[in-house]
Amino acid sequence: MKNLNLFAILLVALLMVQCQDEGIEEFQQAKDPIPEEIINGLNAMGFNTVDYEVLQKKEGYLVEGDIIIPTKTILNATTTSAKHRRAANILSCDAARRVTVKNNIPSINNLVRDAVNSWNEVVNSSLRVRLVRTGNADININREIGNAGSGRFPTADGRPGPVIEIDPALYDVLPANQRTQVLRFVLRHEIGHNIGFGHTNQNDPGSSHIEGTPMNDSRSTMNAQAHAVLNGNIDVSLFQSGTLSQQDIIAVRQLYPANRVCQ
Ligand SMILES: [Zn+2]
Repeated sequence: MKNLNLFAILLVALLMVQCQDEGIEEFQQAKDPIPEEIINGLNAMGFNTVDYEVLQKKEGYLVEGDIIIPTKTILNATTTSAKHRRAANILSCDAARRVTVKNNIPSINNLVRDAVNSWNEVVNSSLRVRLVRTGNADININREIGNAGSGRFPTADGRPGPVIEIDPALYDVLPANQRTQVLRFVLRHEIGHNIGFGHTNQNDPGSSHIEGTPMNDSRSTMNAQAHAVLNGNIDVSLFQSGTLSQQDIIAVRQLYPANRVCQ
C-alpha cells in the first residue's frame, strides 16, 4: 500500500512537470517573432506592418487589425510584382453579380441584413450581394470568441473571401444605440474586405489605388479604425451614417462597373 501511495505521488509529480513544460512551451510559442520573409511579403503587398501588429493565426497572418492573409499568398508576394496583388484579389465578373452571405450568429441577423443591403444598394454597379439562410454561401459569418472582426480578401480565382469572424459580445461595452451602429459598420467593413476592398486610410505603397476615389475619406466604410472604438477611440460620425460614403460608392462602381461584360 505504501508503495502504491508513493507511486501515486510520483505520478502526480510527473504530470505536474509535464503540465509545466507544456505551459512554458506555449508561452514561448506565443512570443515567437514573425518571420522576416512574412514581414517582407506583407510589406511587398503594401500592408502597414509598423503601426499594426502582425499576428500569426491558424491559416495565415492577421494584418492591419482585421484581415487574414494565407501564408502561401504572403510568401508568393516576395517573388512577384506587388502592384498586381490587389488587382488579382477582386471578384470575378460572374462572382460579383451574385455574392451570397450566410450569417451563423442569429442575434445579429438584422445587422447583417443591413450591412449586406448597403453593398447591394449601389446603382450602376454589377455588384449584387444576397443574404441566404440555407445551403452553401460564398461568405459565412461565424462567431469567434474575442475576435472584434476579421475578413479575408477574395481568392486568386476571384471568389469572395469565404469567412468573416466576429464576437458581437465584445461590443456590449458600448451604449445600446452605439453598439448597433458600430456592429453594423464593422460587418459592412468586413464584407468589404471579402469582396475586394482594402483599407481606404492606409497609404499602402504597394496596394492599388482605386481610380477616381480620393486617397482619404473620413466617412469611408473601409477606414481601418473600425475596431478602435473598442479602445475608447470613438469617431461617432464614422458610424452614424449607416451606409457607404459617396466615395465608397464610386469605388464600388470603379471595381464592379455595371457594364462589365462577363466572358
Ligand atoms: Zn479592415
